Amino acid sequence: MSTPSVLISGASIAGPALASWLARAGWDVTVVERFDELRDEGQNIDVRGTGREVLRRMGLEEAVRAAHTHETGLDFVDERGRPVARFAAGTDDTSGGTAELEILRGRLGQILYDHSSAEAAYVFGDQITALHDDGHGVDVEFRHGPARRFDAVVLAEGLRSRTRAMVLGDARVHELGVYSAYLTIPRTEADNDRWRWLICDRGRAVTLRPDDVGTIRAGLNVLSSVRGLDRLDRTGVVTVLRATFADVGWETPRILDALDDAPLYFEALGQARLPRWSSGRIALLGDAAHCASPMSGMSTTLALTGAYVLAGELVQHADPHTAFARYEATMRPFVEKAQQLRPGIPRMVYPHTRRQRSLVWAGLRTATSPLANRFGDVAGAVFSPPADAFRLPDRPLAARREG
Ligand SMILES: Cc1cc2nc3c(=O)[nH]c(=O)nc-3n(C[C@H](O)[C@H](O)[C@H](O)COP(=O)(O)OP(=O)(O)OC[C@H]3O[C@@H](n4cnc5c(N)ncnc54)[C@H](O)[C@@H]3O)c2cc1C
Repeated sequence: MSTPSVLISGASIAGPALASWLARAGWDVTVVERFDELRDEGQNIDVRGTGREVLRRMGLEEAVRAAHTHETGLDFVDERGRPVARFAAGTDDTSGGTAELEILRGRLGQILYDHSSAEAAYVFGDQITALHDDGHGVDVEFRHGPARRFDAVVLAEGLRSRTRAMVLGDARVHELGVYSAYLTIPRTEADNDRWRWLICDRGRAVTLRPDDVGTIRAGLNVLSSVRGLDRLDRTGVVTVLRATFADVGWETPRILDALDDAPLYFEALGQARLPRWSSGRIALLGDAAHCASPMSGMSTTLALTGAYVLAGELVQHADPHTAFARYEATMRPFVEKAQQLRPGIPRMVYPHTRRQRSLVWAGLRTATSPLANRFGDVAGAVFSPPADAFRLPDRPLAARREG
């Protein structure tokens, strides 16, 4: 029997995780990434529950732990930086607003790339332009490279995947109405190792988070009914952010000052809720299939779990149609739980008036009060997503030893 081949499009989290499992199982794996190199932007992401178990089975838990951001918890603050309510970091696989295992997105991507690049072929700076599935294989055309044929194709291109429309014409993103700008700015003496979060009025919020590389990750977030701001160029985005946050206090002027030069990633938050995740020999993986949004704290966990489940099915079933159907049947209930955001999100965390904000703060203070916590872990109930609501299948996938 010939070696099965797969093309994976997208080299962030889901793509390299799948590449690693399939290459180790003896598949001929090619990964194509639109950008010229691995992308470094982004902030802290949580790895929880089954996502963490997948890292363990890959032999990567210690590498990820070593790159932990050392964020010690979450403080909601007022315009003078005084804490309004304080939440501790999680202490196990699933709990806490700050997960026990927090890592910069770019660092996790690099770890997964390093883990897979010896056995999988990575092609940067290229992308798919056409897909022809004739039932026995997929002929793929690229913008730059020569056309090739693969047994299966997996799109791991994130929430706004463009190739997805070639496969599922009916793929629509459920917009949450929130824009988030993630910036990397210099660390100052005013900074600490807490995730600090200023809820403002008019749907705005400003955040600062520590990282493990000596800088600070700032976030400017706004709930808006205006659509399409994420399609502006950088100058347009900077102009909008400066106008939107001009009157906000605390550390905001410092963040706005850094906007011209700081590494910046700007996105419109949304969820992918698709009727199906495959067509013939082509499947979707990670955010391209089922982004739950940063508000869920679950997208990376879902991406790692999905990569593991999909690899297991492909290794067990020679026919990709069967493998894709089984992968979707296994993952969909978990995804549906993860995509259920808490009641009031996003509107409650992005209040319109000062009075509404006072009510949110009162709720947060109550959740952290000693009295409330006598009745159980209220903060845990508020922040911990359903990361363990899934039993990872046991699969004959070979893990690599740590170290
Ligand atoms: C630059 C960046 C910064 C992020 N920052 C954060 C953050 O701060 N907080 C957070 O919670 N989540 C962040 N995310 C999202 C987070 O990585 C995902 O929610 C989660 O980890 C699942 O990852 P994924 O691999 O499915 O998708 P993604 O992480 O979105 O990766 C998709 C990959 O596909 C590539 N790609 C897109 N289109 C094509 C194409 N046509 N051809 C080839 N390649 C393509 C992209 O360049 C990217 O490398 C960020 C994602 C990116 C890409």
